[in-house]
Amino acid sequence: MQRIDTQLLVLGGGPGGYVAAIRAGQLGIDTTLVEATALGGTCLNVGCIPSKALIHVAEQFHLLHSAAELGIRAGDARLDITQSVQWKNALVDRLTTGVAALLKKHKVKVLHGHGEILDGKTVQVGEQRVHCEHLLLATGSQAQALPALPLGGAVIGSSQALSPSAIPGHLCVVGAGYIGLELGIAYRKLGAQVTLVEAQGQVLPSYDAPLVQPVVQRLEALGVALRLNTRVAGFEQGQLLFEQGPPLACDQVLVAAGRVPCTAGYGLERLDLRMAGRAVAIDEHCRTSMRNVWAIGDLTGEPMLAHRAVAQGEAVAEQVAGHARRFEPRCIPAVCYTDPEIVVAGLSPDEAGPGHRQASFPFAANGRALTLQAGSGFVRVVAREDNHLIVGWQAVGAGVSELASTFAQSLEMGARLEDVAGTVHAHPDPGRGGAGGGVAGAGQGHSCLTRLGCVNGALNRAIEKGDCQQHRHRFHRHRGGEVQ
Ligand SMILES: Cc1cc2nc3c(=O)[nH]c(=O)nc-3n(C[C@H](O)[C@H](O)[C@H](O)COP(=O)(O)OP(=O)(O)OC[C@H]3O[C@@H](n4cnc5c(N)ncnc54)[C@H](O)[C@@H]3O)c2cc1C
Repeated sequence: MQRIDTQLLVLGGGPGGYVAAIRAGQLGIDTTLVEATALGGTCLNVGCIPSKALIHVAEQFHLLHSAAELGIRAGDARLDITQSVQWKNALVDRLTTGVAALLKKHKVKVLHGHGEILDGKTVQVGEQRVHCEHLLLATGSQAQALPALPLGGAVIGSSQALSPSAIPGHLCVVGAGYIGLELGIAYRKLGAQVTLVEAQGQVLPSYDAPLVQPVVQRLEALGVALRLNTRVAGFEQGQLLFEQGPPLACDQVLVAAGRVPCTAGYGLERLDLRMAGRAVAIDEHCRTSMRNVWAIGDLTGEPMLAHRAVAQGEAVAEQVAGHARRFEPRCIPAVCYTDPEIVVAGLSPDEAGPGHRQASFPFAANGRALTLQAGSGFVRVVAREDNHLIVGWQAVGAGVSELASTFAQSLEMGARLEDVAGTVHAHPDPGRGGAGGGVAGAGQGHSCLTRLGCVNGALNRAIEKGDCQQHRHRFHRHRGGEVQ
């Protein structure tokens, strides 16, 4: 048995764990990272990056087929999915190799193997026993299993769907959350017939109906079939069975029923930590209920997003180094890379409730958007009635993921409607939206201008005449929403 002593032991090398380890290494903390499968975790290997790569392949392929409407004849475009998967794998390799190099550069010791927690200061990895001062749990999440649909054969999970050896004739996607929708749309564009099956009455059930509507319209246009309020009972002999109604013949079933924190199989129960449902409970410092045991990322529950894990990882590393840090962002933006895309940050109108105003601006009112075949969707802003403090943003439309940072930054800095509307952007630059509402981006030749033009359109609708000077604020910083 080899004994290893370390200041910080990070269990799990996903975006939460590897970023925490690198940051700790940068701060001079003696750090050991344990990873059971592949550095980069779900995000780099079987999540964010491979799914966005597949979506890109699907989009390019689909464009070749849909260009005829514009008078472009692309000929007989064909798909070599093996080559597409190789391209995606090369991209993943490049990124995970980069992570390994950064860990090495910052002198993080990496142990490849399954970590078994013995107690709050000891983890067993094969023949090595690691003793630590601080233990950071970053073991992530796993796909929610459906008892009626065990994986195997034609029933696959998202990881297999990201490395197809062939495109099925008919794919049934069970679960219409963002992962099911992103992959379902991609497979449709790659040539499969696709049926989305959802137990609830709406696709993307956690988003409000107006935001989802443009996506539903696009699903119809693409020919994706929807079965809402439908529960799956099994899969037998090429037939997807439902609790009610006739079965549906299909070649493959993709189970995308959500994800759950990974809490079993590595001795977590020995710590007897306080839980929040199925997730490990943490406070605003990412501390668990046990001293010097920290937890981050998907293991700590929703929102299960890579950028949350990353930000938490940095916060923990800095606290272990003695810095005063908290993890309490105003918002964690979320993007659905559907067609069209959805981005949300902060509160929706319903969440904000009374005392708030909302305004939206449609892309259809923007000529430039129409020339880009991107006339579907809108930008919506939610702000406090009394002082115009922005509390939420939502957008649906082509490429709106690019607005996520703008939205998050305005919320984080406590901006008012007038602050954002009054920001002058340099020209020529993608940020120059102008305050002229939806037409601001017209003729600029950049689709980002169009999106920002619609942002300003929504802002201008939210700002009533005469309000502007009264509420101009110029980013006097404040936390908690009270303006000095
Ligand atoms: C198809 C798909 C698409 C996604 N798209 C997006 C997106 O576009 N944007 C976004 O923000 N998020 C996306 N996500 C979610 C994102 O991948 C996760 O939120 C993120 O990876 C969580 O990071 P993490 O570090 O908490 O855990 P993970 O990335 O899950 O990493 C945990 C790591 O811990 C390791 N581990 C677990 N137990 C042990 C043990 N006992 N010993 C050693 N190692 C262990 C695992 O092997 C794994 O590598 C997507 C997920 C999926 C599945």
